[in-house]
Amino acid sequence: MTTAQTRQDLAVQPTPLALLLLGREADPRSERGVECPGDLPSPSDPDLVERARAAKEKLGDKVFVLGHHYQRDEVIQFADVTGDSFKLARDAAARPDAEYIVFCGVHFMAESADILTSDDQKVVLPDLAAGCSMADMATAEQVAECWDVLTEAGVAERVVPVSYMNSSADIKAFTGKHGGTICTSSNAERALNWAFEQGDKVLFLPDQHLGRNTAVRELGLSLEDCVLYNPHKPNGGLTTQQLRDAKMILWRGHCSVHGRFSLDSVQEVRERLPGVNVLVHPECKHEVVAAADHVGSTEYIIKTLEAAPAGSTWAVGTELNLVQRLANRFAAQDKKIVFLDRTVCFCSTMNRIDLPHLVWTLESLAEGNEVNRIQVDKETADFAQLALERMLALPQG
Ligand code: SF4
Repeated sequence: MTTAQTRQDLAVQPTPLALLLLGREADPRSERGVECPGDLPSPSDPDLVERARAAKEKLGDKVFVLGHHYQRDEVIQFADVTGDSFKLARDAAARPDAEYIVFCGVHFMAESADILTSDDQKVVLPDLAAGCSMADMATAEQVAECWDVLTEAGVAERVVPVSYMNSSADIKAFTGKHGGTICTSSNAERALNWAFEQGDKVLFLPDQHLGRNTAVRELGLSLEDCVLYNPHKPNGGLTTQQLRDAKMILWRGHCSVHGRFSLDSVQEVRERLPGVNVLVHPECKHEVVAAADHVGSTEYIIKTLEAAPAGSTWAVGTELNLVQRLANRFAAQDKKIVFLDRTVCFCSTMNRIDLPHLVWTLESLAEGNEVNRIQVDKETADFAQLALERMLALPQG
């Protein structure tokens, strides 16, 4: 199979519907942040690559560029390291000499990097409007109200919050304050097992799908053990009895990218490509995960494809930039990798970090102008760190 063939399989056309219009608001209290204040270079400037290279060279060891797996290739080429959000935050902490950490990712990731790096390091997000729709689905006010509901129902004392890494610093701090832990998609099972040793119910924030998939697939709980707390309804849309009976109280949040995959996507690709292996991220809906052959985090997806035999075919349900990059990377090894859905599924907020924003950021820093710094206040950072430390102390699997 050629790279051109792979591209053909992935050649889905962007549509206004598919390119989710997130990150447009100018709301500084929102995870979506605010519009970039600077004069951006034109995307058609033919010197952008050279300008980025020159500015990065000028900054030298003072700058460390982090590239999330879902970023565009034009940005990834300047990343000193790539990975998922937690790995990147730890990589930044391991480079204390780097004064500027340029995080090519979204807002909550830059917050986590700020929490985990030293006070001398400055974390910069090239476009402040690069937020995360999932993280935005759980605000500090909503979660505090939920805790009041749980308290009134007489269950709060037995509830342990477990928050996905993909949450704002406020939610991580709430989790730390209430005896809970953070989890990633790689260690969610261990986090839930730990939580059920501390209490007898879990409040899982903000991704209902990761919570449900982990509880049912890995811990053997039933779907009936899980209830969905809707922050937009009185009492979360649940009766007191439902809250008392539930083992998993799932927050009604989801990833706008992974939530688009459906059972139809799985059935359609199986008909189109007999023998295909369906590999999806646990942020996908439960029915998609149940119909897939393999389920796991971004790192798991990459490792699975690395280990796949030549001649095998894979339909991958995760963000399209990553799937395209993997398809191109493994085409030479005769591994056919296609996107699980017919429509594109870029994370539009991740995609806001493009080459013009990166050039503007690097040139500004090289000229001594600190731009787009992300800073978490000390109290929030301390409680969030507590929750992150509990995650680091989870028993190894
Ligand atoms: S892919 Fe989903 S969870 Fe990740 S940043 Fe985009 S919207 Fe948020």
